[in-house]
Amino acid sequence: MDLKSFISIVPDFPEEGISFKDITTLLQNGDALKYAVDQFAHMAKDLQIDIILGPEARGFIFGTAVAYALGAGFVPLRKAGKLPRETISESYSLEYGKDSLEIHHDAIQKGQRVLIVDDLLATGGTLSTSIKLVEKLQGTVEGVFTLIELMNLNGRENLKGYNVQSLITYP
Ligand code: IMP
Repeated sequence: MDLKSFISIVPDFPEEGISFKDITTLLQNGDALKYAVDQFAHMAKDLQIDIILGPEARGFIFGTAVAYALGAGFVPLRKAGKLPRETISESYSLEYGKDSLEIHHDAIQKGQRVLIVDDLLATGGTLSTSIKLVEKLQGTVEGVFTLIELMNLNGRENLKGYNVQSLITYP
């Protein structure tokens, strides 16, 4: 299936010069959504994953579905101030803007095998921050999967040494 054909390109959103990749047109198509989740689950099948980690907000969508498919747990990474119990946090920069991500301090146990799933790899800031938080809790990052990868931003450079895979690439 040509997953790319389900992505909508929105010029100058959320600010001028950004070519926004809108995944909602993929999500609303049942066949495309199922295919994408099945692909992720297939790529993860030999990784013996305990926990899927999904960054807010679009990482929740694919992350939970892949966790269900694998019979793994799901852990959300949230923006500052959203999680109710004790957290650890890391700040990061986006393709446009800056923020911080938090995880519950007891969300991952030492030695648990973690797969990070998100919608899009741009600069890699979000995903390298996610990796840091997993490793602070002494989990091992077995894979970093994204639906979309923007190759020109070289986000992979920030994720060297990790098993980074994406389903759709833009040059
Ligand atoms: P990074 O941290 O620079 O790699 O940016 C990745 C994050 O920014 C992802 O979690 C995306 O949700 C968001 N993002 C950046 N660019 C786009 C886009 O074109 N479409 C959708 N989300 C985007």
